Amino acid sequence: KAKREGKGRYVFYSEDIMQLYAENNKLANKLKYALDNSELILNYQPQYNLETGKITGLEVLVRWIHDNKFIPPSKFIPIAEETGQIYEIEYWIIESSLRQKKIFETMGNYDMTISINLSSKSLCSDINFNNLEKIFLSYDVDYSHIIVEITETAIISDIHFAVNRLKKLRDLGVKIALDDFGTGYSSLTHLKELPIDIVKLDRSFIQSIEEDGKDAMIIKSILYLALDLNYEVVAEGIETEGQLEFLKKYKCQTGQGFLLSRPVPIESIVF
Ligand code: C2E
Ligand code: MG
Ligand code: MG
Ligand code: MG
Repeated sequence: KAKREGKGRYVFYSEDIMQLYAENNKLANKLKYALDNSELILNYQPQYNLETGKITGLEVLVRWIHDNKFIPPSKFIPIAEETGQIYEIEYWIIESSLRQKKIFETMGNYDMTISINLSSKSLCSDINFNNLEKIFLSYDVDYSHIIVEITETAIISDIHFAVNRLKKLRDLGVKIALDDFGTGYSSLTHLKELPIDIVKLDRSFIQSIEEDGKDAMIIKSILYLALDLNYEVVAEGIETEGQLEFLKKYKCQTGQGFLLSRPVPIESIVF
């Protein structure tokens, strides 16, 4: 199987890739009906103040249950980005999250933060971004407690463009978190150029705290620097007591992970 690409260049696809392509096509077709059929649901993973042990916020994580099967976001979000379905899906996620924020406020809880993951595609598309600005404005909630999580990959392809967009989001009052920090290319020196409020240390770092002396050193220095630069640091993927103790010792304010709580339906969270 060969496809002509440009001037006389041929690209060959292996059977594996063709199969993956067909599979993704099938999923993309099913995804069209997922929203209408209520197959998408939102789970919330609590984030804790590591010093007090209190829940300070929730990260919204989308789930797709199709034919009783769980399809992970790592699988369908890239497909939705490819087909453009991500816009509609993310619109729904943001509206639901803002509605949840409003419910908290109605119950008298104004401090709970809600963190929403935003795909790079949504950030970059002009039409979609205008729509996003509109929904963000249409809810009467305290936006200083809404956090938009962006990954480094969303930023590095065109840093000036991304910085502009992030500034616009910030103008709405929301806070910006840099997700999966440490997995991409951006270094600590990059950070100060970005309009961000929060740095989320990637799980891969946290996992090696106890085994890898160098990683532990890197985390220590990130924590010190972040404190100096006035960033809040959130540690992702805390799974062991040892990791938790290390993070507390070096004054990481906030953390989330299976040790503390898995992502769960909102009704299951014990505050
Ligand atoms: P992320 O934003 O970095 O989310 C953290 C992921 O780590 C989540 O996986 C969460 O379930 C998982 N996790 C949390 N604590 C632990 C832990 O202690 N151990 C382990 N092994 N995993 C932990 P999930 O829900 O499968 O999401 C994967 C990625 O998919 C997310 O990474 C995010 O990039 C994307 N995603 C999820 N929900 C959404 C969404 O609503 N919108 C967008 N655009 N992307 C989403
Ligand atoms: Mg995230
Ligand atoms: Mg992350
Ligand atoms: Mg991630």
